[in-house]
Order: sequence, then structure tokens, then C-alpha cells
Amino acid sequence: MQAEPVLLTGLIEACRATIAANSDHLCALDRAIGDGDHGTNMRRGCDAVSAEETQVSSMALPDALEQIGVTLVMSIGGAAGPLYGTLLMEMGRELRKPERNLDFSAALKQAIDAVARRGRSRVGDKTLLDVLYPVQDALANHSSFADIVHRAEFSASNTAAMRARRGRASYLGERSIGHVDPGASSCALLTMAICRYLEEHRPA
Ligand SMILES: [Mg+2]
Repeated sequence: MQAEPVLLTGLIEACRATIAANSDHLCALDRAIGDGDHGTNMRRGCDAVSAEETQVSSMALPDALEQIGVTLVMSIGGAAGPLYGTLLMEMGRELRKPERNLDFSAALKQAIDAVARRGRSRVGDKTLLDVLYPVQDALANHSSFADIVHRAEFSASNTAAMRARRGRASYLGERSIGHVDPGASSCALLTMAICRYLEEHRPA
């Protein structure tokens, strides 16, 4: 199984462009409850993946995802690097298992569980998990791309009502309430970028 080179390159570019366009917004969200670098960090990660898009596009899909994960860990840094990196690396590892039979939804569930273990967090802690699990649930229920995007955006905005229990924002305690989590926001943006791209490039 080879990653379809054009599709993967297009997805990488769609994610990079979306993060670049929203980098300032992500930094502003992070300034409110963290150290203000989430947009910059995510942008650096996307640029690093873009720089190797020709190389990863020639790989089998599981290998490509794992390589992208490694690159994200090394380039994003902060708290988000290991989390996004784990997500992609585990997706690759899961999809490599013959018994998964290319079931993206099941592989994504395993990968998100690995992110939860890596971050020692769970749903409701005001992290990217609060977007990832609802997105996976929508995918498992064969929701339309539009519905998945809506679910992601709604879930990200819901993190404003949560009190942070992980990461720098948790030091703020009650004062973290009222602010959208930057990681949840970048996760919703990436979900939107991926779904819109796939919708537009759906095979006829
Ligand atoms: Mg930060």
C-alpha cells in the first residue's frame, strides 16, 4: 500500500496553509492561558513536514505517517509536539497491522488512546483530546465531512467552559475557564483542512 502521492502532498499543503493563516490566532489563544507560542510551534512543525513532502509521498502510507510523526515531535516542540507526533506515529503503526485492514476509524481510536496515555490526560481536561475523540466518534459513525468539521469546531469552542488539568494552563486553575484551548483549536483547524481537502478531491 503506497500513500497516494498527490493526495498526501495536497493534505500536507492544506494543513500547512491553514496553520499559517491561523498562526497569530493560535498564539493569541496560547497567550491567554499559556506561553503564547502554539501558533509559532505548529507553523514550524507544518513547515518541517512540507520540506519532506516529496520524500514521505513516495513511502507506503503507514511509513509516511510514522515519518511525519517523528518530524512533528522534533519540530513542534513544547507540549504539543509529542502529542501530535504520537498521534501520527501510532496511526502509522496501527495501519501497518494487517488485521486493521485499513480501518482508519479504528486506527485513529488506538492512536488517540496513545496520545491520552502520553499526555496522561483524558476527555474534559481541556486538551486536543476534547476534539480528537468527538472527531473519531463522528468518523466511526460515518458522518459527512461537513458534520465532522462542525463537530470539531463545536468541540473546540466547548473547551472554553473547561478548567485546564494538564500543561501550563492548569497552573491557572479556575482562571483557565473562559478561554478556548489552543491545542483543541489547532486540532479543529487541521480537521477542517483535511476534511475540506478530501471533500474537494473525492473520487468521482
Ligand atoms: Mg505554548
